Amino acid sequence: MTTDEAEFDVVVAGSGAAGMTAALTAAHRGLRAVVLEKTDRFGGSTARSGGGIWAPGNEVLRRAGVRDTPEQAAAYLAHVAGGGVPEASRAALLAHGPDMLALVRASTPVDFAWVPGYADYYPEAPGGVAQGRSVEPVPLSARVLGAELARLNPPYLPAPEFVTITQADYRWLSLGTRHPRAILTAALVSARAARSRLSGRRQLSMGQALAAGLRAGLASAGVPVWLGAPMTGLDVTGGRVTGVVVTREGRPGLVRARRGVLIATGGFERNEEMRRRYQRPPIGTEWTTGSAGNTGDGILAGEAAGAALGLMDDAWWGPSIPLSGGPYFCLAERSLPGCILVNAAGQRFVNESAPYVDAVHAMYDADSPAVPHIPAYLVFDQRYRNSYVFAGMPPRKPLPRRWYRAGAVFRGASLAELASQIGVCSAGLAKTVARFNEFAEAGRDEDFRRGESAYDRYYSDPRCRPNPNLAPLARAPFYAAKIVPGDLGTKGGLRTDERARVLRQDGTVIPGLYAAGNASASVMGHSYAGAGATIGPAMTFGYLAALDMAGSA
Ligand SMILES: Cc1cc2nc3c(=O)[nH]c(=O)nc-3n(C[C@H](O)[C@H](O)[C@H](O)COP(=O)(O)OP(=O)(O)OC[C@H]3O[C@@H](n4cnc5c(N)ncnc54)[C@H](O)[C@@H]3O)c2cc1C
Repeated sequence: MTTDEAEFDVVVAGSGAAGMTAALTAAHRGLRAVVLEKTDRFGGSTARSGGGIWAPGNEVLRRAGVRDTPEQAAAYLAHVAGGGVPEASRAALLAHGPDMLALVRASTPVDFAWVPGYADYYPEAPGGVAQGRSVEPVPLSARVLGAELARLNPPYLPAPEFVTITQADYRWLSLGTRHPRAILTAALVSARAARSRLSGRRQLSMGQALAAGLRAGLASAGVPVWLGAPMTGLDVTGGRVTGVVVTREGRPGLVRARRGVLIATGGFERNEEMRRRYQRPPIGTEWTTGSAGNTGDGILAGEAAGAALGLMDDAWWGPSIPLSGGPYFCLAERSLPGCILVNAAGQRFVNESAPYVDAVHAMYDADSPAVPHIPAYLVFDQRYRNSYVFAGMPPRKPLPRRWYRAGAVFRGASLAELASQIGVCSAGLAKTVARFNEFAEAGRDEDFRRGESAYDRYYSDPRCRPNPNLAPLARAPFYAAKIVPGDLGTKGGLRTDERARVLRQDGTVIPGLYAAGNASASVMGHSYAGAGATIGPAMTFGYLAALDMAGSA
């Protein structure tokens, strides 16, 4: 079909979790849908991601025996997302997340498993669940995609060929050989790799499995995905959005939408101008791990059609190391015992094991401009380096020279030498380490309570006593990694209602226009409920948009 004559019931811009789930739902409601993708690969940040999904009360969690109730989940989300997020949107997420996941399981080859113990990020808050409410894709054969595999956006951290690692594996692998579960997990991952290699069958995991599964579901349902087909604007007739202006094969065209258009074009993490306009300095595009195509196109198109914007100052932040090959988003690294995060004065300023969004908010919220928290430094000793995986490097292995040359990591024979290398106050660092080492011996962090939350302890060393997140920094040489405010993408965008319909400033609906995922202002507000709290809502509001277009919301 040529673009000039194209007409569908539902036109979706963006082939990430939000867009593909919406198109899949529309097709299963008997609508004709198309997905337009700007880049020559499908999957966006979703394909690069951990593929975790936060959807309380879903059938996979129930089957795994996670104890939860709708009332508990509602209390938790109200506490976490705060008053800025309408109650109706929070309720819609919780009511429809389980149906959305059931549809994806029934109409694609991807299945899901509970991530055991990956606690909600505030498990001690009202309604929080320490066992965790996250599910992740079960490894999936790459064959489900056939030739389309070549067009799957690559993962953020590629594993060696035939090696498949899940989120649940990563928790234990980060412990090197410090725990029997770590050794067992390494053996299972090796056995899985050997099976794959022998059979010649690659297995996909995490975000690769999610994006591949959704794409395969679209293929089965006969939904076309047009690659290299950017939406460049919206077609508006009589106040209603009636289609999308697209460039395809170098030619502009119009794709008409009988029922509606869904903006699922991701965030604006790769748009330098928008980041500077909306976000606090220092900011740019070099510290994000989001997908290259996410330049805010859908947000700008929606705004031009009269949409209100929200949460543009915020992002799915995370402390990151600016390595030579790109930013490294720290998870286990800053939570495992034997490291501290310090500012220019050599002082700690946050619980190092805190949820990643909170840790970066603390980086931006320095009390005094004279003592910035950006960059911060993650300081650790040789015991820590000998014990745990660091940014993908096995324990004991020397960190690559190129990281030192890039000024991303440093090493000093003493704390004083390290402090002078990183330009941090030497007396301040010595005092901080001495105080922290006392906390580690006592097992109690008097300053930031690190290790007290079940969330902190997800990435911890159970063999480290008395507190699995605290160990002294005592064994030279000492190391520091530069820490900048990275992100997984932005979370501000078009304001929407509980049916994913785009709203104007006065709260009225723009007929025919929907938004989901990072192109929309997040239902999480300024927070992050738990692992999967970006993809879970992206898929659920994509699903709800399609139901609304089908007239069955
Ligand atoms: C390394 C990493 C790990 C992560 N892990 C998790 C996790 O485990 N759980 C979780 O919840 N979140 C995670 N995230 C965040 C999550 O991946 C994103 O928030 C989510 O995938 C966004 O989904 P989306 O559908 O809104 O956008 P995306 O998946 O980014 O898809 C948007 C698509 O729109 C396309 N596009 C842009 N402009 C246009 C245009 N003009 N026309 C057509 N197409 C366009 C883009 O090229 C892209 O393909 C992670 C992110 C990263 C980078």
